[in-house]
Amino acid sequence: MERYDLIIIGTGPAGLSAALTAKARNKNFLLLGSASLSSKVQKAHSIANYLGLPNISGEDMQRTFLNQMAQAGITITEEKATLVYPMGDYFSIQAGTSFYEATAVILAAGMAPSKMLPGEETFLGRGVSYCATCDAALYRGKSAVIVGYTPEEEHEAEFMTEYADKVMYIPTYKEDTAMERAADANNVSSPSTRVPIEVRRVKPLEIKGGMKATTLVTDEGDIDADGFFILRESVSPGQLVPGLEMDGNHVKVDRSMATNVPGLFAAGDITGTPYQYMKSAGEGNVAALSAVSYIDKIKRQA
Ligand SMILES: Cc1cc2nc3c(=O)[nH]c(=O)nc-3n(C[C@H](O)[C@H](O)[C@H](O)COP(=O)(O)OP(=O)(O)OC[C@H]3O[C@@H](n4cnc5c(N)ncnc54)[C@H](O)[C@@H]3O)c2cc1C
Repeated sequence: MERYDLIIIGTGPAGLSAALTAKARNKNFLLLGSASLSSKVQKAHSIANYLGLPNISGEDMQRTFLNQMAQAGITITEEKATLVYPMGDYFSIQAGTSFYEATAVILAAGMAPSKMLPGEETFLGRGVSYCATCDAALYRGKSAVIVGYTPEEEHEAEFMTEYADKVMYIPTYKEDTAMERAADANNVSSPSTRVPIEVRRVKPLEIKGGMKATTLVTDEGDIDADGFFILRESVSPGQLVPGLEMDGNHVKVDRSMATNVPGLFAAGDITGTPYQYMKSAGEGNVAALSAVSYIDKIKRQA
């Protein structure tokens, strides 16, 4: 397996800024995240406080960032990291069904806007999963409920239909899902999937069960299924990296953006307030410079 110098997790301002610095320092790195960057960039109506880009819309800022990445020759690997495992002098990173190794890692995954559901942590790995791509095969012929916090998760629901015989999708966002749009247009739901995806507009409240999760409690009653996939834009950092020291909901870092795990750095909203583009981009730059020093030190020792 190829070992990268650095893996950067997240394609918001923090991750992109870290990637630019890693590129300038000639490091062999992988940038994991969404090709459409960050919904927190895309959705901003008007941004007045980003140096050099006054009064820009989120969509224009997204376009500007994408152009800059393309000009720098930086590509995004469209995968979501699901586990970062410290192995001593390197990290093993799982992203869906892919596995990578890297000497250093920068966590720039932003802040998950929603809290965990009661019961979610208790049943994690016992009927609750954060990754449909990783765990869909466990639900062959069974029923699965997918709670999607962003429209990107609709692809995960489609993927799930290749295995599960019954798939329900619960969007927590307002926009119509592709399944609802297809139903409006053709009077059919998700025509291209093996089994139809049932879309329910309910509010998830709690996950219940016994030895394993059996029920999603919602504001409109209980929904029973074999598996429950809770798909947010960000996974909580403590779930992503075993042993990571937190400061409340944020990753604890020092001024060099180093965490308590040697070789692991963090930048952006994930390290704390203020939640701002410029603070995130600045921290991404510092984290990358610190990661470069760490990588060079490890190489000298080898
Ligand atoms: C509507 C809105 C308007 C705003 N307006 C302003 C403003 O005017 N000025 C200002 O300064 N700030 C503003 N903010 C705040 C700003 O958006 C954030 O501070 C900034 O986006 C944080 O950048 P980040 O890179 O830390 O994280 P994010 O922008 O949240 O990016 C994190 C990225 O990581 C990805 N990711 C998460 N988990 C994983 C994983 N496991 N694997 C791979 N990728 C992952 C996510 O998909 C996302 O792309 C606004 C926020 C919102 C929501």
